[in-house]
Amino acid sequence: MSVFSWKSNQPARWMQQGASRLELVSLSVAEIERVFNRVREELWEVGLLEDGKYLDLIGCDRNWLPSFDGTAAEFYDEGVSRLDDWLGFEEGMIYLRPNARFGKKPGETLLDTMRHEFGHAWAWRDPAFFERRWFRACFGAAYDEVWCETPAFDRTEYISVYATKMPKEDFAETFMTFLRCRNTLHRFDRRPGVRAKLAVVEQAIKQASETRLARFAIC
Ligand SMILES: [Zn+2]
Repeated sequence: MSVFSWKSNQPARWMQQGASRLELVSLSVAEIERVFNRVREELWEVGLLEDGKYLDLIGCDRNWLPSFDGTAAEFYDEGVSRLDDWLGFEEGMIYLRPNARFGKKPGETLLDTMRHEFGHAWAWRDPAFFERRWFRACFGAAYDEVWCETPAFDRTEYISVYATKMPKEDFAETFMTFLRCRNTLHRFDRRPGVRAKLAVVEQAIKQASETRLARFAIC
């Protein structure tokens, strides 16, 4: 596998030049590269990425626009508007905000944020796979659906409060946790709903690795 598919575009270079002037807290490119490649190695280990295949397509860059609502990162999974396109943003890319803040607890780190965004990237890369029954059966609705009423947080059912926001966030949080804890899933035995979701995600990864990986080569 190639462990490096860092993409750099014009806005990111502008950001590098403008960072100190704007006094933004900017992640170093080296740190983002390190974390990006670490998650790519995890994806290679579980079978969702090979050289030129499936999630190898996903890139990462810094978003030169600071976030005003605390968003640390995002993935364009619903297309890019004409304005965003004009500004240089692309589909299939994970963007990190220049003023993103990361914590030290599980779920708050840059590494976990990258894992979470790769969950969305997987759904973008293979929407037909996410329209299958396994997703709705596990997360209670289709990937893109929005709850009429946000479910109450129950730690036996949801990995985090953020996971209650939408089915796709429930998935991304579960996917993130699976990548982090994939060799010690028994630690969730006292959280049966979470444990069941992790088992479904594990199965989905296995199935995608066996039946989807080779069909999604990058042309
Ligand atoms: Zn998300």
